[in-house]
Amino acid sequence: MIDHKIEKLLLKVQKPGRYVGGELNSVIKNKKDIEVRFAFCFPDIYEVGMSHLGMKILYSQLNEVPYVWCERVFAPWADMEEQMRQNHIPLYALESGDSLADFDIIGFTLQYEMSYTNLLNMLDMAGVPLKSSDRRSLSQLVVAGGPCACNPEPLADFVDLFFIGEGEEVDCEVVELYRDFKRKNGTKEDFLAAAAQISGVYVPSLYDVTYKEDGTIDTFQPRGNAPAVIHKRVMMDLDKSYFPDRFVVPYIEIVHDRAVSEVLRGCIRGCRFCQAGFIYRPFREKSIDAIDRQCRDLCENTGYDEISLSSLSTSDYSKINDLLDRLMAWTEDRKTGISLPSLRVDGFSNELMKKIKAIRRSGLTFAPEAGTQRLRDVINKNVTEEELLKTVNTAFGGGWTTIKLYFMIGLPTETLQDVEGIADLAQKVVDAYYNHPNKPRGKSVKVSISASSFVPKPFTPFQWEPQDTIETIHAKQRHLLSSIHSKKIEPSWHEADTSFMEAVFARGDRRLGAVLLEAHRRGMKMDGWQDFFSLQKWLEVFASCGIDPAFYANRKRSFDEHLPWDHIDYGVKKSFLMEECKRAYANKTTPNCREACSACGASCLKGGICVESR
Ligand code: SF4
Repeated sequence: MIDHKIEKLLLKVQKPGRYVGGELNSVIKNKKDIEVRFAFCFPDIYEVGMSHLGMKILYSQLNEVPYVWCERVFAPWADMEEQMRQNHIPLYALESGDSLADFDIIGFTLQYEMSYTNLLNMLDMAGVPLKSSDRRSLSQLVVAGGPCACNPEPLADFVDLFFIGEGEEVDCEVVELYRDFKRKNGTKEDFLAAAAQISGVYVPSLYDVTYKEDGTIDTFQPRGNAPAVIHKRVMMDLDKSYFPDRFVVPYIEIVHDRAVSEVLRGCIRGCRFCQAGFIYRPFREKSIDAIDRQCRDLCENTGYDEISLSSLSTSDYSKINDLLDRLMAWTEDRKTGISLPSLRVDGFSNELMKKIKAIRRSGLTFAPEAGTQRLRDVINKNVTEEELLKTVNTAFGGGWTTIKLYFMIGLPTETLQDVEGIADLAQKVVDAYYNHPNKPRGKSVKVSISASSFVPKPFTPFQWEPQDTIETIHAKQRHLLSSIHSKKIEPSWHEADTSFMEAVFARGDRRLGAVLLEAHRRGMKMDGWQDFFSLQKWLEVFASCGIDPAFYANRKRSFDEHLPWDHIDYGVKKSFLMEECKRAYANKTTPNCREACSACGASCLKGGICVESR
């Protein structure tokens, strides 16, 4: 559906395949039959967005509704944006080629705080007014969901309505309400007031905020009938929740180019830094029958020869060996690979290793997260050095020679000894290889250590914690480098500058809207990409707005501070998060949900492991 004008531009840009649409399984509908046009926008480039499972689910689900046409929109890379702006071509949806401005609902998925400038830029590229208050009619309704929506406040000026929690049901309810209002020529104002009554919907314009002199929030008040607390939506029975039997198959290589089956949602663990581990509670599993059927359908309808069993921690699937047996019964003959992207150190048994060996030979990745047992106890990463060494020994005995270990720098209570502990642990893994009686002959070992910077996130026990300053992180990175004495260890890290800005927006309030607007005015975008991110430019923007970013990133917050996301409820009680924070400082661990229920509050959602464990 791409017109001639766009075709000509494609000769001038890298990877034209990002911009043409027409892929296998993309959905084309007749506009005459459609009452609600929904643009599903991913605020990053095609290759990233097309790899995202949530987008695949909601795209297919919305398109199953006869009166809805859901199309995909991605952020163009700078070369294409330049061409589009020069030639006055608005940002368009890949299915119809129509401008984003022509849509009833413009929906964004928020996966990463550093994509917020892209959200503004994408609206701007189609001439859609950025501020919610400047979009008066019911059309061009901007909605957003995804994990970052758990603190929607930095985007409160721009987004009309947020989905809190899992989108499968609430998306369709809002679309239906929208259709009713469109049919009767209802106003945007009335629609938003009605939508706010749907559970899991947050309409930021219906709330007033006041601030204290010290800059913290004083009051946060709903207006009219808007609920004081917005409770998240959750799909309790994963077997019954919608899952597509086909994905759009891209022409160009994307980040994760394979069939994906979501085997479980939530996590039984309670790693204290991990937002996903709390906001997706409770832990729920899909049945083997459902996973098997979905994998078969997907492979049949896409031609993919690799299936990824996706989740926060796939080795926590209670019947993982049975599941792999069931899948391997047909995938082996078809030469279809299975990948398990998220394995836990303590979930890597001999039996699982043998199965993985049969289906995959690439490197293994584990996440001890901290270098010393003390710090692993602080963050509640219930993994011991013995377990890690046992696991890598199992792997080396099975022929693996490449191990990747994920760590974090800047965790609460961290000392330089903990940083050295990262290098020590990696060295022990190298030594384990050379001491292994059955190590692969004539091969050397490679241990990659990736050290990201800790970013305190809402809805975690560390939501009150300060982030280390950039200077401290740099000093710790240098200390880590000087503690590594083996060429077999390859360190890498995320830029501390980006993590700082991520921390600002993760725990920001709605005053950051002015900052985002100014950043956009200065042409800032693609901040998740090192080619574009500039701390200097961000600091200039903050200075021009009279806002100190350290107030959001580096300040320790007190337990009685009104947090910008306190009106959002993900099931887990704030008092539980406080207790967990105190336990962290006391080096006390908390059992996982399978060992014992710690009464976090998520049982109020009445399902998953909370009910099963009783
Ligand atoms: S209520 Fe208990 S079982 Fe349920 S998520 Fe919380 S700690 Fe886990």
